[in-house]
Amino acid sequence: MIQLFIPLNFLGFVYREIRRALTDLENMLGLLEQQPTVEDMPGAPELIVRQGRIEFARVAFGYRPDRPVLRDVGFVVEPGQRVAVVGASGAGKSTLARLLFRFYDLDSGQIRIDGQPIEGVTLDSLRQAIAVVPQDTVLFNTTIRDNIAYGDPEAAPEAIERAIDMAHLRHFIDSLPDGDQTLVGERGLKVSGGEKQRIAIARVLLKGSPIVVFDEATSALDSGAEQAILAAMRSLASGHTSLVIAHRLSTITDADRIIVLHEGRVAEQGTHQALLDQAGHYARLWALQQEQEAQAGQIG
Ligand code: ATP
Repeated sequence: MIQLFIPLNFLGFVYREIRRALTDLENMLGLLEQQPTVEDMPGAPELIVRQGRIEFARVAFGYRPDRPVLRDVGFVVEPGQRVAVVGASGAGKSTLARLLFRFYDLDSGQIRIDGQPIEGVTLDSLRQAIAVVPQDTVLFNTTIRDNIAYGDPEAAPEAIERAIDMAHLRHFIDSLPDGDQTLVGERGLKVSGGEKQRIAIARVLLKGSPIVVFDEATSALDSGAEQAILAAMRSLASGHTSLVIAHRLSTITDADRIIVLHEGRVAEQGTHQALLDQAGHYARLWALQQEQEAQAGQIG
């Protein structure tokens, strides 16, 4: 019995570890229950990230051959830049992120990280290099501190404290009766969407991956929560290359560059001000959101 128990127990441990590593990624990308469609090339080397430069070169992709989603998409995120992707619902923003993690292979074109085509390196090394802040972070049924430390289970206490500060969680944690030992998760304290995203940011800060994909929540937050997330996001942006899938344009007005997707193509790219001056798709999206926010303000 013991002989049977040990391997099963070990397998259970391995399974839980793998699930933990994948939870946020799957959650962000809406990929739960999905069968893998890509695999490592035989003898593929590991990705080596020195600077964190991301390049999409003439990328074309469709989930089905008869329905292209992205066509001839090209842009560069220089090391350390914060670049936002915007566009109407269904424009292909999340698809871009899924392709960067290589959940699917491209129909044509290439995605390169520091010059290395992602289809030529191991999936493990690729996904290790990229951290994700999902729209809806999964919190485990344990303390808030353990939830943060899950970004790096071997992190030193000082590193965890630093991540708490940088993610602007200190004030929130100090207000809890049990501080960082407060239980969260399904059976614990209810944590708001904004606080959850900051916990995810603290995890990513601990994980130390050179590239971060930030999947911004669709739902509007009150302005205090939004400011706290923005501040946490800025901590994250310094020292990382970040790609933000943005829904609310007000959160990315200070991005280094904004990529506007329209009908599967990069229709415009530039800074917030340059895009407003162009009076094109972005300017229309901006006007629409301003109007919606003004209306919501009147109702609320
Ligand atoms: P939103 O702002 O609503 O999240 P998005 O810009 O992120 O939208 P995507 O989720 O990338 O858009 O979807 C782009 C297109 O691909 C849409 O037409 C969508 O219906 C389609 N699509 C997305 N996922 C799949 C899938 N797994 N299988 C087939 N089609 C899909």
